[in-house]
Amino acid sequence: MTPSLYFDHHATAPLLPAAREALEKQLERVGNGSSVHEFGRVKRRVLDEARQSFADFFATSPRRVIFTSSATEANNLALQGVCASHLIVSAVEHDSVWKVAQTRDAAVVNVTADGLVCETSLRRSVAACQGKRFLVSLMAANNETGVMWDISSLASSIHDGGGWLHCDGVQSLGRVASRWYEGADMVTVSSHKIGGAMGAGALIVLSDDAALLEGLRPVIHGGGQEYGLRAGTENVAAIASFAVALHHCPEAWRQQAAVARLRDYFEKQLRDIFATRLTVWGSQSPRLSGVSCFSIEGWRSIEMVMALDLEGIAVSSGSACSSGQIQPSRVITAMGGTKQQASELLRVSFGAEHTKKHVDYLLKTMKRIAPPLALNHSLAL
Ligand code: PLP
Repeated sequence: MTPSLYFDHHATAPLLPAAREALEKQLERVGNGSSVHEFGRVKRRVLDEARQSFADFFATSPRRVIFTSSATEANNLALQGVCASHLIVSAVEHDSVWKVAQTRDAAVVNVTADGLVCETSLRRSVAACQGKRFLVSLMAANNETGVMWDISSLASSIHDGGGWLHCDGVQSLGRVASRWYEGADMVTVSSHKIGGAMGAGALIVLSDDAALLEGLRPVIHGGGQEYGLRAGTENVAAIASFAVALHHCPEAWRQQAAVARLRDYFEKQLRDIFATRLTVWGSQSPRLSGVSCFSIEGWRSIEMVMALDLEGIAVSSGSACSSGQIQPSRVITAMGGTKQQASELLRVSFGAEHTKKHVDYLLKTMKRIAPPLALNHSLAL
């Protein structure tokens, strides 16, 4: 059944009409950006223009924009391709960072109960790498809770210790108007999270330290695309739509205040309905405007997601879902939540198309279908 109400913008955002147009235009044209003839040169020009758009946005040079198939691939390139002997990551990174970190025996930085970086833990890990070449990977905003980190101040302590900072900016691009990536040496972004087509991501090198870019090695080997750093024919159609979505960012930023009001309204009503059964994660920290991440005691993620799906409402468990199994959220346990709370997690993410009417419908549905708390807790649901 096709959901009629989509509250899962942080999983993927709806394709913007202008991004669709750019995508379709390129799909209709034959040509490989690496071919020397006119068909290839046309594709190359589209690619060059897109690369320049990202370079302008991040105030860097086109040579430092490496297009990939996804943010997952860009994160893998950053962590596996970097010339560093030691790796440090936070406990709440996306799996595309976390799972690479596990293969590289990375040090793990803890987070606080509010989902912020534990600075003592970061300082300790950085100090342990003194005198070595190391990379720290920290996200600008968490994909489950939406909690945002002050990348510029975290970067200072990492640089003071002699390390580089890679920042997964997938959830911040298009949602945070400030220069959230300031201080980072490399940034990862993804097309489909900002209304571009799926199939494009980018790793952008911002560092002035020539050793970082010069030391970077490809993870995928083959042709010499992307300055030899990512082999494989570029997905020009998806990249063109990604650039269009990037140009749409200022418009998206203007919409964020209204989105935040809707999220706040939703959480206030949710507290009235579920009272002490409800825990909202990261609500005391700076958060992305469109995300609400919470646990409702006695209502498991998988049951919530499926029950709402049957009502035509799409939300997310907030955690990795494989083979139909929803795993308890690693992010919530890192924040000190219990295993039970981590398996009762729901992430609702809002977009500019939502209205109070949509939110009221979601709340009304949740109130109607929520199971009563076991052991006869007297809740007026
Ligand atoms: N990093 C974060 C924070 C994400 O939220 C996601 C996707 O959910 C990714 C990386 C991976 O993005 P992609 O779907 O482009 O591989």
